[in-house]
Amino acid sequence: MSHITRNVQPVIARLGREGSGELVASRYAVRIGDIDVVLISDGVLPLPTSTMSTNVSEADRNEWFDGRFLQRDTFDWALNIALVRSGERLILIDSGVGDGFEYFSRAGRSVMRLESAGIDLAAITDIVITHMHMDHVGGLNVDGVKAKLRPDVRIHVSAAEIAFWKNPDFSRTVMPEAVPPALRAAAAKFVKLYNENIVQFDQSVEVAHGVSARVTGGHTPGHCVVDVASNGEKLTFVGDAIFEVNFDNPDWQNGFEHDPEACVDVRIALFDDAAETGALLAAAHVAFPSIGHVAKSGEGYRFVPVQWDY
Ligand SMILES: [Zn+2]
Repeated sequence: MSHITRNVQPVIARLGREGSGELVASRYAVRIGDIDVVLISDGVLPLPTSTMSTNVSEADRNEWFDGRFLQRDTFDWALNIALVRSGERLILIDSGVGDGFEYFSRAGRSVMRLESAGIDLAAITDIVITHMHMDHVGGLNVDGVKAKLRPDVRIHVSAAEIAFWKNPDFSRTVMPEAVPPALRAAAAKFVKLYNENIVQFDQSVEVAHGVSARVTGGHTPGHCVVDVASNGEKLTFVGDAIFEVNFDNPDWQNGFEHDPEACVDVRIALFDDAAETGALLAAAHVAFPSIGHVAKSGEGYRFVPVQWDY
């Protein structure tokens, strides 16, 4: 198969501008029973394809990316956050990568996209952080964001996650050399900045009616997913438990996973549950808007994206 180098310059840079009229789809809303859920794109993170398949041969990796008509060397990871309205509560799930990383200049759009959607940051009552990697807490670390949030905003983070970042273990990860220090710094900045707002939970917490976070561990020891359930309908935001490559290959490990074997068990349990119950999944790093069903397919699974509703 021949390989054509794509022009990765984003379409908004070539043809449009950022803001409410931008030319890329960057937010998508669904209703789960009585609860509104909006997925918002923070942008994309270009990373080596090997980061999504650290335990896989180069031939197997190339075969998967060739089969998707993608480049073999670099893959643009989607980066999604979510906003959930349940009754009087408005809950933000994760915050994107922020602006501290020149290499990730094609992400960090979350705050701009929330504001261009007419969402006042001061209306957010609760924030859930799936885990404290910089692409999930970085948006909150941007200068000026804290001042726009209400002073009493509750930021829910698992106790295991807070404990882990006091002395994080990177011995099982496979990351470029510069990444662990950047992750440490972002996590430390987040805790320092929001110490008064952080509400720790153990195994699970009901953040609002029908909206609960529960610890899965794996990706980080305190990694959690968020279940949204109402009137018999359900969507789970799985954070970093599932990556684009994992529907076909649940056992492919990711270089950002602090316990890669545990991650395989976590994602298989999430896949099986979604396949059996028909619940929707959404994920931080599955192509925007990342909402879909999971079907069993041979030894693996098949992602069935939702039909967009207009
Ligand atoms: Zn992530």
